Amino acid sequence: MYKRSLQELNEEIKICSRLYPEFAGAEPLVSSLYKARDSFAKKPSQPGPINLTAEEVQKKFAAGSPLIDNPVVGKKTFLELFRVLSPQFVKQEPSLKNTLKEVETFLTEFFAGTKGDTWQVRDMPDLISKMVEKTPVKTDLTTFITVFILSSLFDLHYNLENADTIDMAAWERGNCPVCGVKPHYGLLKDKEGVRMLGCWLCGFRWVFPRLQCPYCLNKDMEDLGFFTVGTSESCRVHFCKKCSNYVKIFDLRDAVAEDVHLPLRNLATLSYDLYGLKEGFKPGSGLQWVTEEEQNQSAN
Ligand SMILES: [Zn+2]
Ligand SMILES: [Zn+2]
Repeated sequence: MYKRSLQELNEEIKICSRLYPEFAGAEPLVSSLYKARDSFAKKPSQPGPINLTAEEVQKKFAAGSPLIDNPVVGKKTFLELFRVLSPQFVKQEPSLKNTLKEVETFLTEFFAGTKGDTWQVRDMPDLISKMVEKTPVKTDLTTFITVFILSSLFDLHYNLENADTIDMAAWERGNCPVCGVKPHYGLLKDKEGVRMLGCWLCGFRWVFPRLQCPYCLNKDMEDLGFFTVGTSESCRVHFCKKCSNYVKIFDLRDAVAEDVHLPLRNLATLSYDLYGLKEGFKPGSGLQWVTEEEQNQSAN
């Protein structure tokens, strides 16, 4: 799959600041995190390629299983990357110094309390809830750090170069056909408005019907809708009244290139998550990108 250079990411960051002015304040932090990650990613790693035959893929999909049923990351590299990123947060926000020290201690103990050298991504809700409970860190920053680290490590541990050559047409579920996690965002492309969902963990994109909920698979149009914020239609919050979940969709029907960096678009549009919550919907991904305080504040 297509990986972006640091320069390309910086271009994307500039575009995001133009499209979503509220992102401008976060720009220095986000660029410094990608820069720090870039130097980390150059360290040697042991990538595990997906080597599945077409038959094996078919068998997995028929059983409702994604290509990688139980993605894992290295506990040691998780902590190493945390230590690389942590000073970048402190540089932008010195008051986080002690909080992040506590998070580091928590993470070291948390991983020491689990077996083996690797950790299963499916245990992320447990990690997040314990981190919020045992350290002063807020849910939004917990989600941000965890997602940033896990997606970076996924890139290091799994080689998805041949994922684009695999026929995913047999996959009719809303979660990622490659790694199985539930999506938080997606895009609309072409004049017909084909909807693709994007994976926050492995970065894969797959076509999913526009008029179907990716979480409960509901197709009843009465229950499906979307809203935008302000005058900008470039981001839409698609919701389902049946399961009360939302997914953020970037409208790229008029874009010259659909190859935007969705994780950055997501970070640039967290105010849309806030609106989604205010309207009574939950993130179908389970990822809480905004805090309860923010929700309460904006309600006043
Ligand atoms: Zn995935
Ligand atoms: Zn639904």
